[in-house]
Amino acid sequence: MKLFNSLGRRLQELEPLEPGHIRLYTCGPTVYDRVHIGNLRTFMFEDVLRRTLQFHGYRVTQAMNLTDVEDKIIAAALKAKVDIETFTAPHVGSFFEDLATLRIERVEHYPRATEHVAEMVAMIERLQATGHAYRADDSVFFRIAADQDYGKLSGIDLDQVRRGQRVQSDEYGKEDARDFVLWKGAKEGEPRWPSPWGPGRPGWHIECSAMSQKYLGKTFDIHCGGVDNLFPHHENEIAQSESANCCPQARYWLHSEHLTVDGEKMSKSLGNCYTLGDLLDRGLSARSIRYLLLSVHYRQQLDFTFDKLAEADRALKRVDDMRFRLAHGVEKDNDPARLEQAAGDFETAFAAALADDLNTAAALGALFTFVHEVNGLIDHGLPAGGRTRVEACLGRADEVLAVLDAAAWAESTEAGGGLSDAEIDALVAARSEARASRDFAAADRIREQLSEAGVVVEDARDGSRWKRS
Ligand SMILES: [Zn+2]
Repeated sequence: MKLFNSLGRRLQELEPLEPGHIRLYTCGPTVYDRVHIGNLRTFMFEDVLRRTLQFHGYRVTQAMNLTDVEDKIIAAALKAKVDIETFTAPHVGSFFEDLATLRIERVEHYPRATEHVAEMVAMIERLQATGHAYRADDSVFFRIAADQDYGKLSGIDLDQVRRGQRVQSDEYGKEDARDFVLWKGAKEGEPRWPSPWGPGRPGWHIECSAMSQKYLGKTFDIHCGGVDNLFPHHENEIAQSESANCCPQARYWLHSEHLTVDGEKMSKSLGNCYTLGDLLDRGLSARSIRYLLLSVHYRQQLDFTFDKLAEADRALKRVDDMRFRLAHGVEKDNDPARLEQAAGDFETAFAAALADDLNTAAALGALFTFVHEVNGLIDHGLPAGGRTRVEACLGRADEVLAVLDAAAWAESTEAGGGLSDAEIDALVAARSEARASRDFAAADRIREQLSEAGVVVEDARDGSRWKRS
């Protein structure tokens, strides 16, 4: 399998550190408001990556952080006169709801920044001991001049970064305007944690360095994010982790391109910053949204338009129509060679497209060639066992795509319809997550959705159990 490594900017063969096992870190949401479709594009790319790795036989251990403390969250919570946990709870809940709606698989770990401050303090102490960090007033900064490798991911020319750029009022103590904050001393009314430098809170970049190490080790296989995180966030993560640990942080760095809406950058002022909820409220289908988000190669800009969503609908209808004909088609005593050829070609082309840096566009191309072939075969009569053969091909492809089974999507959106066990598991987990963060409104909404589908949830000491009523 080949992936485009942003570190070195080249296509590289994937070689796991441990045979058969991929450890993967993906930067998660800042739980400040409901994520928009630009964020969801990144999470969708990461879902396709995870599913493709599993499709090719790898076991995956993945961690995605939840940034639940940072400047905007603190300011908004202060304004709303609530603590940050209360402020972030509904956004954590809606995030997991959106993932479940789009059938983005749950990953192994969703660590929260506020629960890993001790690990961050420990890493900052190591950086201070090695001369890569220094204290100024109540804060601690990373000393870029002490890191010879700084810029190796983004290729940024540090001399081009203006030295005289404006420094925030709480960062006057910096030795160099380019240094970045690791620890911020607490101001009046702000949330705080104890540290050797007095009460305060961590900077944003250090959280991913500390949490990736805790869940995946000092060196792991793949680190992903949106291209907007490449600099400075990922560059700073590398600087922190590698200066503290003296070994590479991640071997492959993957970045997904931006999403535009109607050819324009998303912005609040243009009113085109859609959330998944906005789109569903307009009666658009989650299944078509998933299809559109995964249909464009992750390293190409994706222009989101309502026309393209309609195209996605039509593409899916072609699959649905073929499956309907297949279910009602007659199997005859025909030569199976042509079907075997079409099925084999599809399986080979589909797997090869995904192994080629997740070329989902080519994988879908192979799918529609197959759909066309099968329609022709149905016209002439399928060979014995043909129906099962075609369904098996589609089922295998859907392990990555998760859009081909119309019945499953219809069931999960229609009131009273049956959910699959995996979908129920995902919803029950999302509800537990919502309850853990005390977002009882979101937890109730999910319980409602489950009860409409005839699922009863029972909460016990050791977690929630469910059964079909
Ligand atoms: Zn991150």
